[in-house]
Amino acid sequence: MLTNDQLDKWDRESFFHPSTHLAQHARGESPNRIVTGGSGVYIEDRDGNRLLDGFAGLYCVNVGYGRPEIAEAIAAQAKELAYYHAYVGHGTEASITLAQMVTDRAPAGMSKVYFGLGGSDANETNIKLVWYYNNILGRPEKKKIISRWRGYHGSGLVTGSLTGLELFHKKFDLPLDRILHTTAPVYYRRENLASSEAEFVAECVADLEALIEREGADTIAAFIGEPALGTGGLVPPPAGYWPAIQAVLDKHDILMIADEVVTGFGRLGSMFGSDHYGIRPDFITIAKGLTSAYAPLSGSIVSDRVWKVLEQGTDEFGAIGHGWTYSAHPIGAAAGVANLKLIDSLGLVENAGSVGAYLKQALTDAVGDHPNVGEVRGEGLLCAVEFVADKTDRTYFDPAQKVGGRIVGKLLEEGVIGRAMPQGDILGLAPPLCLTRAEADKIVAATQTALKTVA
Ligand code: PLP
Repeated sequence: MLTNDQLDKWDRESFFHPSTHLAQHARGESPNRIVTGGSGVYIEDRDGNRLLDGFAGLYCVNVGYGRPEIAEAIAAQAKELAYYHAYVGHGTEASITLAQMVTDRAPAGMSKVYFGLGGSDANETNIKLVWYYNNILGRPEKKKIISRWRGYHGSGLVTGSLTGLELFHKKFDLPLDRILHTTAPVYYRRENLASSEAEFVAECVADLEALIEREGADTIAAFIGEPALGTGGLVPPPAGYWPAIQAVLDKHDILMIADEVVTGFGRLGSMFGSDHYGIRPDFITIAKGLTSAYAPLSGSIVSDRVWKVLEQGTDEFGAIGHGWTYSAHPIGAAAGVANLKLIDSLGLVENAGSVGAYLKQALTDAVGDHPNVGEVRGEGLLCAVEFVADKTDRTYFDPAQKVGGRIVGKLLEEGVIGRAMPQGDILGLAPPLCLTRAEADKIVAATQTALKTVA
């Protein structure tokens, strides 16, 4: 075992951390939590802290930590066959079984899945397939993709461009051409306070229609959105949003990509957010909950109507030139199979719905009336509390006050991990789907205490 000093030294000397203020980290100014273990909804760190993980890692450890069923499946697969590729029709029992399990659970009319490694590469796959699809159909001009401000779709070149958060564009020469952004369906932040939910949905639709009109429907290939916004603030859509958007897409023959990296496999209390909100996707992006992050694996679920065109394309132009060495990696697939079995046997989709509703209500009761709480919102186990300087006109706190960051810091002192989301002062809560009511109570009590000390 390395000593703490040695670990800290090597960390600063060698480890390039993702999404990190590099200079602060090098100066020792940012947190340096070395995580050593986990069980259920708790993690432990090297300093002996045991923390309730209210964000399931990066909202991905959906079945909770320390599940022997998944660990044993991974070990058995590694011993038997750690790797074989999936190119030119090769496969393994684990990858074929997982494909069947995923498509069995997918919305109707979606019966193929392409496996990758993470959410970003799965979205890259989707966009390439959208372009391929329109080329095969003889529509080379129909290539632009519409995403939403505050959407998060990864941080690659195309996916970082799709992401509608400035941090992921800044100084990277993104967004790329062909990527457009439209209004985020965040009712709380509507410009016209007097708008009802239905009027706000109509405004979102009108903005989308105007964008399509301006660019020309024959140049627009697809729309991508998370069923409920994740990184952009954990925001469920206003009632009626998705059917209204879907109608516009249908009218203009624009494909729908449902990015379910966060919402897939139960987080909202339904197997998929698409089913939850009545979305009819042509592609579904899956990752995190597919393996509960026990091994990296993602997927692009493809609709039958798209699949037909892809098949036609390969008859005309030969094999599809798109593959990763680790597509359908057997260890990831074995983890996925064990994980999906656990989600079923433990009833985690239902639990996310019922404990999620309980958590949201308990948070509302505990802090909803506080003058600095603008909104408590959530769907299933995707919950947020948005803090504001003034509740009546939703004024933001001065960012220099770092209210969201300080609340999350206080929460940690209470033994609970939450996440400060960008776009204001937002406490994000997305715990493992096995959360109990007693554990939800602990999150609520910690939030109440943290709020008292900060605002
Ligand atoms: N899409 C959504 C909705 C996400 O939340 C994320 C990551 O948080 C991604 C895509 C990117 O996934 P990854 O970080 O695995 O590349």
